[in-house]
Amino acid sequence: MRYQAREVDVDGRVRLVMESALTARDRVGVQDFVLLENYNSEAAFIENLRRRFRENLIYTYIGSVLVSVNPYKELEIYSKQQMERYRGVSFYEISPHIYALSDNTYRAMRTERKDQCILISGESGAGKTEASKKILLYYAVTCPTNNHMAALGDCLLQSNPVLESFGNAKTLRNDNSSRFGKYMDVQFDFRGAPVGGHILNYLLEKSRVVHQNHGERNFHIFYQLLDGGDDDLLITLELERNPQTYRYLVKGNCPRVSSISDKNNWKVVMKALSVIGFTTEEVQKLLNIIASVLHLGNTQFGEGEEGETYITTEAQIWTLAKLLGVDGSALGEALTHKKLTAKGEEMISPLNFEQAVSARDALAKAVYGRTFTWLVEKINHSLALKDEIYSSKDPSLIGLLDIYGFEVLQHNSFEQFCINYCNEKLQQLFIELTLRSEQEEYETEGIAWETVQYFDNKIICDLIEEKHKGIISILDEECLRPGETCDVSFLEKLEDTVGSHPHFVTHKLANGKTRRAMSREEFRLLHYAGEVNYNVNGFLDKNNDSLNRNLKEVMCQSDNQILSHCFRREEVIDQKRPEMAATQFKNSLLKLMEILMSKEPSYVRCIKPNEAKQPGKFDEVLVRHQVKYLGLMENLRVRRAGFAYRRRFEAFLQRYKPLCPETWPNWPGRLADGVSTLVNHLGYKAEEYKLGRSKIFIRFPKTLFTTEDALEA
Ligand code: ATP
Ligand code: MG
Repeated sequence: MRYQAREVDVDGRVRLVMESALTARDRVGVQDFVLLENYNSEAAFIENLRRRFRENLIYTYIGSVLVSVNPYKELEIYSKQQMERYRGVSFYEISPHIYALSDNTYRAMRTERKDQCILISGESGAGKTEASKKILLYYAVTCPTNNHMAALGDCLLQSNPVLESFGNAKTLRNDNSSRFGKYMDVQFDFRGAPVGGHILNYLLEKSRVVHQNHGERNFHIFYQLLDGGDDDLLITLELERNPQTYRYLVKGNCPRVSSISDKNNWKVVMKALSVIGFTTEEVQKLLNIIASVLHLGNTQFGEGEEGETYITTEAQIWTLAKLLGVDGSALGEALTHKKLTAKGEEMISPLNFEQAVSARDALAKAVYGRTFTWLVEKINHSLALKDEIYSSKDPSLIGLLDIYGFEVLQHNSFEQFCINYCNEKLQQLFIELTLRSEQEEYETEGIAWETVQYFDNKIICDLIEEKHKGIISILDEECLRPGETCDVSFLEKLEDTVGSHPHFVTHKLANGKTRRAMSREEFRLLHYAGEVNYNVNGFLDKNNDSLNRNLKEVMCQSDNQILSHCFRREEVIDQKRPEMAATQFKNSLLKLMEILMSKEPSYVRCIKPNEAKQPGKFDEVLVRHQVKYLGLMENLRVRRAGFAYRRRFEAFLQRYKPLCPETWPNWPGRLADGVSTLVNHLGYKAEEYKLGRSKIFIRFPKTLFTTEDALEA
């Protein structure tokens, strides 16, 4: 006897069943989770995912949400022929696909004349960036082209390798992990041709420039340059080929990655830069900067007898100064001294060893981070609507959001705090918009709305972002407060201010005792997706993100135009403190929320099947965790609250009319009457369905399956 598959019974219990007893639906599962009989059972949900994954069916819907499981292998489902199959076809007529979602979004934009956005979420390595690239490719291939802007599709596609080279890195969880958040608008003209684009970037993980965890790498561009750049180029930049020569590249002890060809990618990036319109001179300046970061990392300090700090790698400073286009002695001085203004007078004070190291690292991070922002601006310039004809008319938009998923690492710091806050905001938006669109659909169809219970995570968003009282405000205050502040004093302040919040925990228990499982440097947030402990070490520094004034002064005099654009004179003159990192991030997120709220959203929820990056392996525990924090069960509950299934009258009638003599071959009257006649003939009971204005709503999947089976009989 062969046991082939698992069956989930109505109570969510899993049992094994014999192969012969399997129907096609048992084998490949249902293509829309709303059709699961037991929609409250997580086990049934996961079993459905597993079955489909085993059959290489990586896409499944929850209504209009697309769930995607990373196959970790190339599937033959992305060809041009496949694109053609999905053009103009509605969701239910064909198997779920990222192209179906792309096409539906595009058609909604065209027919309803409403801007759209596609929100892609999931944890690191789940396939978000790959999904966004497939969507862009779909538009580049299938949309009409505009003669004036024939090259725009290329520019849009080529922006990816460039941004990935400078913004992605090999991490333990993904060989090509995006270390920044990205929102991209694609603009279409009145004929539906892509005519422009615009990218917003969020919080690049700059700390990676100076430090990487074991088994991880710095940003790809460094290795690509060393491996792919020709000999002459490396000589000009005074670089050695071996990445292990550079302190900023050795921390992770991982110079090569088997899945990555740095040499080939170098060629791809150089080509992409030229397609986007970077001049040879600009590329040279960009590479000078990349090389300067490596040289900066190799700049070392010594400590004199009186505790003064000096540079031990003197020759390096001249190379560095040449590449940065700044004065060498001024740079050397600025790396070892600090300029202060006290009582209107300027004073120079020497830095100690640690301060010099941290000034150097701060400079490397600032140079890299600002250059990345410049790169995005430059790409935007090439993607911008150039032709007056188009910019004067309001174009239609599809926005694509590929942003870091909820992150829980062994050691969580400021970056994870920001990333997880971002996910709280997106979850809030998701709930609000999904509920809103469900409610709207019920209203337009004239069907009574049934209230759904769900967890509103506003309470956690408030805890983080509320003015004066939230964690970000307290962090800013601590950064600005004169006197001795440190990460631990920040933690104490948190305890005083938000200590009693139901979603905030530290080692202090309410009865004055200590929670042993927590360190004294941590606070825990009970996120909607789960608990995360954050270590406060480095929070103040990272939030401050400041660069000594004299380093800024040196940099704004650079004769490298990219750098003089990135470091503005006004910044040195203006004594007003710029916004702190977390507040900047908060404000950019609030703007993003506004952008997204004004559009019609579609969702792609990506799931990573295993930690080993292997095909065919479905790790149930890992998947269950993601199903939970992506809020998929909740999503399904909202969608199933009333009716499992809905379809427009004409589509329903078209499919099932052979089942009733009065509707076959054609129903001459009103569509609603036809559907009514058909379902009466099929014996649908009143509680099983409702007729809206243009759609039939069916309460239970079983009703639909029985009808489907009758069709096959
Ligand atoms: P991060 O948050 O770290 O940026 P991500 O969600 O963007 O992660 P991707 O970089 O898109 O993850 O995917 C990780 C890897 O998984 C890809 O490099 C690719 O090897 C594989 N992969 C993802 N999606 C697919 C797919 N649809 N088909 C084949 N392989 C895929
Ligand atoms: Mg990514």
